Amino acid sequence: MGSDDKKAKELLQGLEKGDLKLHELEEDADAESAAAARRRFIEKRTGKKLSGIGSATIDYEKIRNRNAENVIGAVQIPVGIAGPIRVNGEHAEGEFYVPMATTEGALIASASRGMKGITQSGGANTRVIGDAIARAPLFELDSRVHAPGFIEWLGKNEHGIRQAADSATKYGRLKEIHSFVLGNNVWVRLSFDTGDAMGMNSATIASETACEYIEKNFSAARLVAVSGNMCSDKKESYVNELLGRGKSVVADALISEAVLKDVFKTTAAKANNTNLKKNLLGSSRAGSSKHNAHFANVVAAIFIATGQDAAQVVESSSGYTWTETRGGDLYISVTMPSLEIGTVGGGTHLATQSEALAILGVQGVGRSPGLNSKKFAEIIAASVLAGELNLLCALSTRELGRAHADLGRNKKR
Ligand code: NAP
Repeated sequence: MGSDDKKAKELLQGLEKGDLKLHELEEDADAESAAAARRRFIEKRTGKKLSGIGSATIDYEKIRNRNAENVIGAVQIPVGIAGPIRVNGEHAEGEFYVPMATTEGALIASASRGMKGITQSGGANTRVIGDAIARAPLFELDSRVHAPGFIEWLGKNEHGIRQAADSATKYGRLKEIHSFVLGNNVWVRLSFDTGDAMGMNSATIASETACEYIEKNFSAARLVAVSGNMCSDKKESYVNELLGRGKSVVADALISEAVLKDVFKTTAAKANNTNLKKNLLGSSRAGSSKHNAHFANVVAAIFIATGQDAAQVVESSSGYTWTETRGGDLYISVTMPSLEIGTVGGGTHLATQSEALAILGVQGVGRSPGLNSKKFAEIIAASVLAGELNLLCALSTRELGRAHADLGRNKKR
């Protein structure tokens, strides 16, 4: 414990006597002392020294009532740099070094080799084709009121619903309403433009306001839950695949025969066959909606480095890798329907995460609201493309195990 020692000792005594609960310490103390007291309490209870968790540079005051409760410190995850990768996007244009936080050896090297191949082939072409975060409140109706009547009412009252929702946030704007019926239950899926924020808090707050308007003006509808799982947050779902959630992004590249030979030691035919049989056939046979090799690896590493909500890797890593042979060249594309990211809000303001966003030139708000988050989405899609390209090529030449033995176990084979 440092300069806050006296206060922390006082709080620790309170915890040990049972006068204070873990979550009450900040009520009468600074966040630093509270974290130190809780850490010491857990050290005593477990007999384990927590000097690593306690040595973080994080500013506890800044995360209070914002990012975490009952804080005792922080864990550290190595951050490496992949790239550079050339991106030819609508919002991201140029070469980017990409920060990736991971403990999986070989991952950053894998993405880097993919980025090298893409850059030598002219770069990744990227586009954001959809942008809307969704919340889907669930209503139940009196049995004598039929769901179609409610849906008709929603259509006629869209203006009022929109006004109610938009009054709750400065940057959030209701874009679309989709309704889904099951008996007397109706899910009203509300999709929002939330500027540079990933938007889940903004959309939830705006949805609550919209629900109040709906209940007030259509008395036969009762709100069951503001989130009825047709949203779908942090869960794999086809609704996100079809309607999109967050940014829907595509990236593609044409990898020349020479680059395939020099960088990846493979051919277009081999890489294409691996993609079709593994990502399309294999995933279908397995009953998986993730028709890709490892979107989740690249998405998770960038999410953690840049302060995104890590649980949203679930749906942010769904999507498709498509390849074609074009003579001796390989066309490769990735389609990501639900990439949920932001450059403001959530964990993006934390000091180290904000630095990682700055490396990409997307920290905070850009020239106008919304542009930075779209640029960020394009860079992530290009990086995911690089990860797919490299893994498919490595599998096609049977290199995967060797790379992981070298870089994941520190053992040359
Ligand atoms: P947030 O940090 O809750 O809100 C973003 C804030 O930034 C808002 O106050 C917004 O103002 C402001 N803002 C300033 N400039 C902006 C710009 N250019 N574009 C957009 N907003 C701007 O972040 P969020 O993205 O809405 O929510 C993310 C958080 O929600 C994460 O911590 C995530 O873990 C959590 N989460 C919540 C739920 C839930 O159900 N509530 C579910 C999953 C995750 P205005 O408010 O005036 O628009």
